[in-house]
Amino acid sequence: MMNSRPIRDNLLSDLGAEGHLLAAKCEKCGQVYYPPTVEFCMQCLHEELAEIQLSGEGSIHSYARSEVDAEFIKAPYVCGVIDMAEGVKVFAPMHPEHMNHPVSINMPVKVIVGEVWRSDNESVVGYHFIPA
Ligand SMILES: [Zn+2]
Repeated sequence: MMNSRPIRDNLLSDLGAEGHLLAAKCEKCGQVYYPPTVEFCMQCLHEELAEIQLSGEGSIHSYARSEVDAEFIKAPYVCGVIDMAEGVKVFAPMHPEHMNHPVSINMPVKVIVGEVWRSDNESVVGYHFIPA
């Protein structure tokens, strides 16, 4: 049986297709942080932060295409920095099924949770961006 594990703890609300990226939101000033690893708000120093789910809506801030294999990704592939609707940036690979789709700055995209690689008996769940 295939086990699933998150690529990193405390980053995803769920490992299924309904999963979202988690972020932290300051309960005083509303500043959002991703990843949600801050212990206090760097804007107002408030220490109460709420866990929120990012909507997944965003647009491409910048991107790069690689012609060289990464450890778990076969080239060619595209990675991008995504401006999320909540005001944070997320670094994500483009979903391999959309690799032939043209990519451009400010292009609307969606960040989705899903398997990023698989080993012998383990499915590693992370996230990709896809054209919106
Ligand atoms: Zn704050």
